[in-house]
Amino acid sequence: MTLRRIAAALAAALGVATAAPVGAEAPFAFATTPGVLPKDIVPVEYALHLRPDIATRSFRGTQTITLDVLRPTRSIVMHALEIEIATATLIGADGRHIALAPPQSDAATQTIAFALPAPLAPGRYTLEMAWRGKINGAVEGLYLDRQVDAAGEHLTLATDLEPTSARRVLPCWDEPAFRARFHLTVDVGAGVSAYSNMPVASSVPAAGGGRRVAFAATPPMPSYLLALVVGDLERVDTTVDGISVGAVAGRGKRHRVAYPLAASADLLRYFNEYFAVPYPLPKLDHIAIAGGFPGGMENWGAIVYNESVLLVDPATATAATRQRVHGLIAHEMAHQWFGNLVTMAWWDNLWLNEAFAEWMAINATARAFPEAHLRLRARRAAESAMELDARSTTRPIQQPVTRDSEAESAFDTITYDKGSAFLRMLEAYLGETAFRDGIRAYVQRHRYSNTTSADLWAALAAASGKPVAELAADWTTQPGFPLLDVDAQCERGRRRIVVGQAPFRADDDSASATAGMGTGNRTAAGERRWNVPVQLGTLGAGAGDYLLLRETSADLVRDDDCAAPLVADADNVGFFRVRYAAPLFDALATRWPALPDGARLKLLADTSALVRADQAPLARWLALVERIDDEPRLAIWDQLLADLERFDRLGVGEAARPAFHRFAVGLVAPRFAGLGWDERAGEPDEARQLRARLAATLSRYGDEATIAEGQRRFARWVAEPASLAPSLVNAVAEIAGRHADVATYESLRTLARRAPTSEERFRAYRAMATARDPALAALTVELALDRDVPQIIRHELLASVARWDHLELAWTYAREHADALLADMKLFDGGRAFAAIVATSASAATADELEAFARARLPADALVDVRRGEDEIRTRAALKARLWPELANGVTGR
Ligand SMILES: [Zn+2]
Repeated sequence: MTLRRIAAALAAALGVATAAPVGAEAPFAFATTPGVLPKDIVPVEYALHLRPDIATRSFRGTQTITLDVLRPTRSIVMHALEIEIATATLIGADGRHIALAPPQSDAATQTIAFALPAPLAPGRYTLEMAWRGKINGAVEGLYLDRQVDAAGEHLTLATDLEPTSARRVLPCWDEPAFRARFHLTVDVGAGVSAYSNMPVASSVPAAGGGRRVAFAATPPMPSYLLALVVGDLERVDTTVDGISVGAVAGRGKRHRVAYPLAASADLLRYFNEYFAVPYPLPKLDHIAIAGGFPGGMENWGAIVYNESVLLVDPATATAATRQRVHGLIAHEMAHQWFGNLVTMAWWDNLWLNEAFAEWMAINATARAFPEAHLRLRARRAAESAMELDARSTTRPIQQPVTRDSEAESAFDTITYDKGSAFLRMLEAYLGETAFRDGIRAYVQRHRYSNTTSADLWAALAAASGKPVAELAADWTTQPGFPLLDVDAQCERGRRRIVVGQAPFRADDDSASATAGMGTGNRTAAGERRWNVPVQLGTLGAGAGDYLLLRETSADLVRDDDCAAPLVADADNVGFFRVRYAAPLFDALATRWPALPDGARLKLLADTSALVRADQAPLARWLALVERIDDEPRLAIWDQLLADLERFDRLGVGEAARPAFHRFAVGLVAPRFAGLGWDERAGEPDEARQLRARLAATLSRYGDEATIAEGQRRFARWVAEPASLAPSLVNAVAEIAGRHADVATYESLRTLARRAPTSEERFRAYRAMATARDPALAALTVELALDRDVPQIIRHELLASVARWDHLELAWTYAREHADALLADMKLFDGGRAFAAIVATSASAATADELEAFARARLPADALVDVRRGEDEIRTRAALKARLWPELANGVTGR
């Protein structure tokens, strides 16, 4: 699935500080794979029949499970949650029926156990069961999606089962190593269509005017990949390499599926070639759901998305939209191999699914948009991961998972973005061809089965001839990453380079000690070491040779051109920070425009991080940003804008904040003036995206001329939509929303209600959430409980209002309405959602309030997310005390 980025603030949300690293891992073996269920019985096939009843928000299920008993056992243990078992009968190979007594439930493990009168002998059995379950409002298990638009209410019935919600739909072996075939039949009402992993095998009239739809049996797969979607939906399809590729959306939206369908067809050809194992199912559907489902979920053959991130209006779509949609489709399609065909053995190896899907999505999308510098822009996500991974509350990519809540919270920035950035570093070091060959061998060897990281290292080592396991374990089993100190001198015409490594830390121990955090990671933090592949090159002479730094330091002498500056990691593929000795830094800073794109981005990002960690003087950052004027790369502007936003948060409530805003406007305005408001024929799309970004930034920092022009363009756009270039619509809506009066706010609200698509509806609500006027912000927070506002928006609204300078208002509202807010979301999402609301605070008092609230109101399992949030706030509070006075002084009068 895609990482659920509820709000930008949420980047800081999850995970657990764990004690010991996983250690040397063994290759996959079913018997030793972690999990709750005994491994003496394995399911082979579920013949499953569901009869949903929307009116009562419930369903009836029956199934015949084909089982293999591997060892004699006196009980059958399987998962079931919020399911009421009516009957269960076990049938032996000889046809003998054994009626089973009602099962014992275990709430802690979400299992049921049938005790048997006598030990069951090994062999094949069938288990027949009937039960009743509930249709949920929150997105888990079988749920009802509700969408309200100008045409009225639309209901879609759908499943969302990853990681541990299949057990809410059917009693089953709900752990990824228990692969089985699913043979699904569903009774549906009149006038709707049904989609699942496989094509429809038969559809016949059923009682009550509906139909009974049976799907072909799936290949052996984990339970979390089962899918069912039922609604008033239309399918458009094409055929690629013999596979029926479909796009499924609500009636009347078929003109918006052309792009996703074309991108998907192109990606299918690319992945078939890259993996050298063709997509194995007869069909692949991309299914757009209107309401509450966020992001995408890679169910085998039936990928589900929120329509706002899949459908593309051909009339107004920008390149940015196509890049985003392409990236998401590529992520979910990469899972069809990484995750579905080859599945991680257990949730502690979730990164094998998610980091790979993310890495593959970046590569595939960069290939589809070669002019967009997407690999460079993907460093934003790597930077977010490094921010999180430099704090004491981080965790290793691989960590033990024993509870369901830990499986949920493994879906975080560390798994996705540190994992993906690590793979990019490894791919660059091993070479793209050797890396691909290793992946091909891995997929070929482990298809229809499960793996651990050790299986991957073995395949990559065989293909590359390099000691992958040793190198990789440093990065996946240890938290954090290194800071490389780089120094160099000329000695008799040759260059002598000294590189040292030490763990990079952004917070001091006192910040987290106050919060009473676990300290297991930190005792050994000072001694931690990595095998670091780092390229050392000379400016103008390529990225240079690799040094594999194994010890705490290395000392080497090379025949370089001593007069040209040394550049470390010029391609910006390393998951580490670099700190240059002062003369080396100065040499690079003065040659800023001549540095490769990746090197400029790395220098700026590392300098910002070092300054904030009190490991480099602020003057270094100021020296770089003064040279930014003509910068062409969006990725580098995004880094600078993120830095400005981070620093701006330190100034909330401070006298010098307006001076900082003037400083920010001074940095950004010249580039925006060069671009102008209007699109130019033939300009690269990057310039269009940059124009929009800078316009919004100037509005944010109060540039009157930009605000006035943005408001003028918004008013004209509302009356005459064709008057505004599509690339500026989001920015202009934000400017209008940020500086809205009552009339503008009402016109956004009307747009939100009448919007024909989720994309437009979400845009209008998001613009409303930026309002500066406290009276308007007070209206917006009420929408968090308005059932006609899409659930995704309801869930992000309070964090957005908080982020746009009304933190106290949103936080107070959240605490006063906690019951209603928590009732609207999944159990474990509470910690994440409430931490996100205060995530931008720079006040330790707010961290205390969050902690007190969480202890009083949230389940213990949600506290891991809260601790991350608290740590971020306390780190920022300490940074504010140290850096803001210097920053205020540094920017005054510039
Ligand atoms: Zn995913």
